Amino acid sequence: MWGKDYQTAHHNLLYDTGPSYSADADSGNRIIAPYLRAAGISHLDGMIVTHNDNDHSGGAISVLQEVPTGWFASSLPADNAIVAVAPQPRRCYAGQHWQWDGVRFDMLHPAWQSYDVEKLKDNDRGCVLKITSRFGSLLLPADIESSSEQALVEAQSDALAADVLVVPHHGSKTSSTPDFIARVHPKIAIFTTGYRNRFGHPKAEVVARYKDAGSRIYRSDEDGAVLLDFGKTGISANAWRKTAHRYWDEAG
Ligand SMILES: [Zn+2]
Repeated sequence: MWGKDYQTAHHNLLYDTGPSYSADADSGNRIIAPYLRAAGISHLDGMIVTHNDNDHSGGAISVLQEVPTGWFASSLPADNAIVAVAPQPRRCYAGQHWQWDGVRFDMLHPAWQSYDVEKLKDNDRGCVLKITSRFGSLLLPADIESSSEQALVEAQSDALAADVLVVPHHGSKTSSTPDFIARVHPKIAIFTTGYRNRFGHPKAEVVARYKDAGSRIYRSDEDGAVLLDFGKTGISANAWRKTAHRYWDEAG
């Protein structure tokens, strides 16, 4: 859904940019750029747009216009309008990796050869990113579906384990196969779902799978933005809406 900003000590990465709503309103200019400004983030080292779906790519051009950005990685076709205006555009593919401030970033998917498979669904081209710090790890599988999950379980089995998972495809039943969940085994599972979205995400049976696996559940439709902090005291997750609400209750 909305973009996710990942900040190490001195670097910032934006992973997906949320939807556009109309010709001049999108989550890039209405939510992400204002959020970055408020957070004092004046530039992005990199931006990743995982795949060619409005709910992930719709805000990208606005963010690129408003926030200086170092490089851009995606699975978008080369003739896409975003790629045309992006700085240093490149494909995402399994095997890319880099390190910022002691935090490691590994792209686990898609395989480079998958770009030759014309019929592949956009969801299954999603740039799957694993972020590993001394204090914990995070897996971002975008909207991959069951066949990609299976491929990852087979080819990247060890890399899948993560403390925090942003649940694939917004908790759709196309995804979150039992094998995949068992391999990731997240302590925290975050569902990025729009409030009363027309897809009925997340599916109750999918939420139940994570609860059965012992994961703590966050949902953006109920919790608002979820702020994660990885540090010496462990991983803290704060639901923006609940934190704000609590403050309001105490103040009142
Ligand atoms: Zn999506």
